[in-house]
Amino acid sequence: MNPLYDIKFTEAHLAWREKAHEIAVKYLLPQALQHDKDSTFNEEAFQAAADAGMLGTWIPKEYGGSGDGIMALALMVEEFSKADPAFGVAFAVNALGSLPIIVGGTHEQKAKYLPLVAQGKAACAFALSEKFAGSDAGGLSVNATKDGDTWSINGEKKWTTNGSRANIITCFAVTDPESRSRRISAFIVEDTDPGFSIKKVEDKMGIRSVPVCETVFDNVQVGDDRLIGGKPGFGFKHSMMTLDLARPGVAAQAVGTAAGALELATTYACRRKQFGQAISGFQMIQAMLADMAQKTEAARWIVYATAAHADAGSKGVTKIAAMAKCFSSDVAVEVATDAVQIFGGYGFMEDYPIAKFYRDAKILQIYEGTNQVQRMVIARNLIKESSRHDYLNSVIPGETQESYGAEPVTANS
Ligand SMILES: Cc1cc2nc3c(=O)[nH]c(=O)nc-3n(C[C@H](O)[C@H](O)[C@H](O)COP(=O)(O)OP(=O)(O)OC[C@H]3O[C@@H](n4cnc5c(N)ncnc54)[C@H](O)[C@@H]3O)c2cc1C
Repeated sequence: MNPLYDIKFTEAHLAWREKAHEIAVKYLLPQALQHDKDSTFNEEAFQAAADAGMLGTWIPKEYGGSGDGIMALALMVEEFSKADPAFGVAFAVNALGSLPIIVGGTHEQKAKYLPLVAQGKAACAFALSEKFAGSDAGGLSVNATKDGDTWSINGEKKWTTNGSRANIITCFAVTDPESRSRRISAFIVEDTDPGFSIKKVEDKMGIRSVPVCETVFDNVQVGDDRLIGGKPGFGFKHSMMTLDLARPGVAAQAVGTAAGALELATTYACRRKQFGQAISGFQMIQAMLADMAQKTEAARWIVYATAAHADAGSKGVTKIAAMAKCFSSDVAVEVATDAVQIFGGYGFMEDYPIAKFYRDAKILQIYEGTNQVQRMVIARNLIKESSRHDYLNSVIPGETQESYGAEPVTANS
């Protein structure tokens, strides 16, 4: 991967960002707190995004999308998340759930499902994690067995975001328990398939307006036409390819979360008076705001760089995608925490908007691979690349020693 990032924004990218900002101001800002309180999804905002064609931005033109790529996704998710991080993830998971079809599906699967997603007629979910298989995504127990032409999918998934709203669920199941590398396959499950159901909608600390569910696959019967790519054994590969492309989306959610918290904190600091002056005049508040702004800006550009790489189809996007996810989510948590501090006691109150940012930020360090797992991925790639630094051998004293490298990481990474 070329470390010189060629970040380009097309007119279409900027137009999508502008449109997302309009939707955020019109539908998200005024309703975010209430939807959070009631744990209800903002259907109005979703419909507005669907009507504007936003759900087709990452889908190739030949399958009914606009072909504006991961960059468009990142720019829109950032704008949505500035107003409501929960909506940001609900939107982004449509990419996460449809990407396995984009990266691994047959032409027929793409032609059948992607136009529906692009038109906003089918919402998506991505069902990988299970009760006993989170970071260790290779340790799934949901399985699919074949009898004649029919696969039967059985088991339960945990934390399926959008689970109760989705029409298309990409479900990862064990098809060859004996195999190490070809153990898992990905299937397209439709919400109307007999045997698919929602066991529970989770009660969460943050992102409360987006439904995250336990999903049940009780003898869900599908044909080979629902096996992504048409051949078994490629599910793990497809899940990792998907996560590489989806991580700029969740990282953009983090940038939006940080940016939204920063804007709120700056506005509040200019309005709140203590000791006869706006608290924005105090140097300690200014230093906090300045640090929050620097971190947010740095996170923003690593996300854009990652999106640019993803759209260019660069080899080795895994490392920068992990960096973008890890760095921006740590920034979101730090910035949201400082923003609460700037709001003082009001920051602790749920009728002020900032507490929600604080609660919404935390999950960013956990889902789509925890930040511990991201650090493992980054380090593993650094170690792999270290052989390129032979020119340093002459400046490191001592004998050249055998390189042991790192254990491979097969985590939700
Ligand atoms: C709100 C929410 C929404 C989600 N949405 C989805 C979704 O849409 N689809 C989906 O498939 N999944 C989803 N997830 C699941 C999410 O990706 C997992 O929670 C995450 O990957 C971590 O898995 P775990 O919770 O089982 O934690 P564990 O894997 O049990 O980890 C527990 C702790 O141990 C650490 N740890 C684990 N392994 C290692 C290691 N090798 N080295 C160092 N530390 C380690 C972790 O970093 C963590 O701190 C969601 C989760 C939540 C909470």
